[in-house]
Amino acid sequence: TMNDYQPDNIFAKILKGEIPSHKVYEDDTTLAFMDVMPQSKGHTLVIPKTGSRNLFDADPDVLSDLIVKTQKVARAVMIATEADGVRIAQFNESAAGQTVFHLHFHVIPMYEGVPLKP
Ligand code: 5GP
Repeated sequence: TMNDYQPDNIFAKILKGEIPSHKVYEDDTTLAFMDVMPQSKGHTLVIPKTGSRNLFDADPDVLSDLIVKTQKVARAVMIATEADGVRIAQFNESAAGQTVFHLHFHVIPMYEGVPLKP
């Protein structure tokens, strides 16, 4: 249902180290790692270490911290990839395209003239 956080979701397993990931940033509250199905070179996901299903479920303090960390990650990813721009995306519930029910921001580097992969 809408407000359930399932502690066995794939990002929870990544946080616990039960599933491997290519980490690009980590601190006490936040983890960023490469998306396994990147829509562009450098596509990164930024997640809080605490469990929230999505944007609506998130504690405001967690969300505030997460957006600041996303800014930091996006800046670093943009420099590392030499991208021309960056998209930040975030989906809530299946109808909106959410497939992993642990709050995350997509950091999607954009390259002039290069369309996103589907
Ligand atoms: P959503 O559609 O929920 O916003 O995006 C979930 C994202 O997680 C997708 O872009 C998908 O490729 C990515 N993803 C799904 N499973 C894994 C995984 O096991 N490892 C990593 N690194 N990314 C995953």
